[in-house]
Amino acid sequence: MSITPLMPVYPRCDVRPVRGENCHLISEDGRRFLDFASGIAVNLLGHSHPALIDAIQRQAATLMHVSNLYGSPQGEALAKQLVDLTFADTVFFTNSGAEAVECAIKTARIYHQSAGAQDRFEIITFNNAFHGRTMATISASNQEKMHNGFYPMLPGFRHVEFNDLEAAKAAIGPNTAGFLVEPIQGEGGIRVATEEFLQGLRKLAGEHDLMLILDEVQCGVARTGTFYAYEQYGIEPDILATAKGIGGGFPLGACLATEKAARGMTFGTHGSTYGGNPLAMAAGKAVLDVVGNDEFLAQVRASGEKLRGRLEQFIGNYPDLFSEVRGKGLMLGLKLKVESRPFVAHLRDHHGLLAVAAGDNVMRVLPPLVIEDDHIDEFMEKLSAGAAPYSPEAVS
Ligand SMILES: *Cc1c(COP(=O)(O)O)cnc(C)c1O
Repeated sequence: MSITPLMPVYPRCDVRPVRGENCHLISEDGRRFLDFASGIAVNLLGHSHPALIDAIQRQAATLMHVSNLYGSPQGEALAKQLVDLTFADTVFFTNSGAEAVECAIKTARIYHQSAGAQDRFEIITFNNAFHGRTMATISASNQEKMHNGFYPMLPGFRHVEFNDLEAAKAAIGPNTAGFLVEPIQGEGGIRVATEEFLQGLRKLAGEHDLMLILDEVQCGVARTGTFYAYEQYGIEPDILATAKGIGGGFPLGACLATEKAARGMTFGTHGSTYGGNPLAMAAGKAVLDVVGNDEFLAQVRASGEKLRGRLEQFIGNYPDLFSEVRGKGLMLGLKLKVESRPFVAHLRDHHGLLAVAAGDNVMRVLPPLVIEDDHIDEFMEKLSAGAAPYSPEAVS
């Protein structure tokens, strides 16, 4: 037998973390890494945050799981917290991002179909998007590398160019149910939606009675310096998918919606065995208690500006290696002129620095939101040391 017990769908590197300490990870062989990947935008509070550990330990000892057949004081409280912090009137809890997007797609379809419009099922999505790995969420993306071997794709998705408002407008037809878009494409390479684009989609959705669904699974929950990224565009969605950071490392996601958008989501239309269980709710509450306030968000914006300023100054010394810094808050990307994957591997293997490669030759910089100045200093030192051999003629 040559297949590994762990299904070999990931090309795993030889860093094998066994322990986390705030913004660092320690591997099985004792090496120490600065973690500016955060489990891909998950560990908002870093590793081993006392409030999160305490909340999970207490809840685990009290009540871990009950069925959604019963009342949920824990779920009601966290849903209320999210409703108070956002555009939303109602929340469905999931265990992952893909499930949150699935719920968002179902919510958009039933919005129309519960009102008798059976033919309004099509969601317009955008090139290079990533929405998850389920059949519906891979169908929602135009990326063939995720489709190959899994045909047929689910019908009902139409892909157009990101940041191209005219293309989105032209794609609207009698079957259209809504738009699904990431305000900042994460896997696609930290590609930021323009104001004109998101505001334009909002306006089109209003004019054509379409659902504007935002996928904030990666960019949401304080990552960009506001609680959700849409706040920086002066718009509100009808439906929003959130996950990754919201559990701080505990598997948790949610689909948020306005009362109007959720009009079809009535008894028996949707469900999940684990979704919203008390343990996940405790983790979510612990995270929101830390990040869901103006002081914390201001801190994220300040750290983001500091890091971005340092990066911009730094790349000026390496014009043959980097071309730009992108992103918002602490969701940053360095666009490289060399391949990003080997560069990220070089930083990891030789300089003890973890970042994440993304599409469009971008290196994602996604630190825990609790970083302090000395983490930024350490990051810049490791990055400089890693960049030097790549660029012999560098200015400094
Ligand atoms: C990661 C991600 C998903 C999928 O989340 P999973 O928890 O892996 O299912 C969906 N959308 C975006 C934008 C993501 O970054």
